[in-house]
Amino acid sequence: MNIPAANPGAFVRAHRAEIDAAIARVLDSGRYILGPEVEALEREFADFVGAPHAVAVANGTEALWLALKALDIGPGDEVITVSLTATATVTAIVGTGARPVFVDVCPDDLTLDPSQLTGAITPRTRAIVPVHLYGQAARLPEICAAGIPIVEDCAQAHGARCDGHAVGAWGTLGAFSFYPTKNLGALGDAGAVVTADAALAERLRSLRQYGWRERFVSAEHGWNSRLDELQAAVLRVRLRYLAADNDRRWSIANAYTTALRGTGLTPPPSFPHRSCVYHQYVIRHPQRDRLRDRLAGDGIATAVHYPQPVHRQPAYRQDVPLPVTEQAVGEILSLPLWPELSGAEIQTICESLVCLP
Ligand SMILES: *Cc1c(COP(=O)(O)O)cnc(C)c1O
Repeated sequence: MNIPAANPGAFVRAHRAEIDAAIARVLDSGRYILGPEVEALEREFADFVGAPHAVAVANGTEALWLALKALDIGPGDEVITVSLTATATVTAIVGTGARPVFVDVCPDDLTLDPSQLTGAITPRTRAIVPVHLYGQAARLPEICAAGIPIVEDCAQAHGARCDGHAVGAWGTLGAFSFYPTKNLGALGDAGAVVTADAALAERLRSLRQYGWRERFVSAEHGWNSRLDELQAAVLRVRLRYLAADNDRRWSIANAYTTALRGTGLTPPPSFPHRSCVYHQYVIRHPQRDRLRDRLAGDGIATAVHYPQPVHRQPAYRQDVPLPVTEQAVGEILSLPLWPELSGAEIQTICESLVCLP
């Protein structure tokens, strides 16, 4: 058996007729950008998150970037975030002209460590960008207690909750990616920003289309970050399955955790008030590469999210001590996990795990 590390085609195969119908509807409509499908997706996704407004944009990086720009963040400002994340989190911050200030993560769930904030906040701090890494909601009550605007990076955590509220609804703004492999994924690039603030939502609608408030007249310098009707129509199909798909991810994760018992490997932690939607199932071991080879020998592909923390990458290098982050990157390993994994595939993975390390 050969099991890939990710499988974005599995959803399409499982729901092909519905996706074909959604695409056909757009083809026949004659509207291809920012039309009724995008508007419907914005309403439905806002409902899913429990946020009053959602603004669809072209991708997750621009969702973060435009969210920061809507807060007027720019040169001279500082934005606190983590280094153990997709490069895109930092790309967006640097794109505004602000300086990213890296703090370390908690040793258990590898999300932003709130106890690091006091030492990182300065008079220039304009926002904190916590990342709900691998689908695990970060420690939002403690992070929000800092009293600084929060832009949540929700790219890996559609539907994850903290104290009963979905991520994205906690911060001033929440940025989502709909990249194909995310829990809610399009057939190309897509993203959205959610917020409770009507004025910020209006600002985002303007920023995503040349800074227009009325057609052909730019009220401010904006961008083109519009979403296609085709992507919106496909996302609406996928959104209908998202809650069930997240449940399925949770059951598969449970099967892996059971298989890991007694192996000496550390499964991802779980918390009573902060749920995880298992975008990734990440195990940790000091001899990660050996484990990776063993699994590959059983036909199981794995991935490392991420092999280089952002503050060690040439474009964003900073000499800051982040010991928990540095240790984690040498130990983390993401197992295959998507809702359409078959019973036989899950069994193969579990049998291979039982024999590790
Ligand atoms: C995927 C991802 C992004 C970027 O989203 P794109 O749609 O690829 O631009 C940002 N942050 C995190 C944590 C991600 O996983």
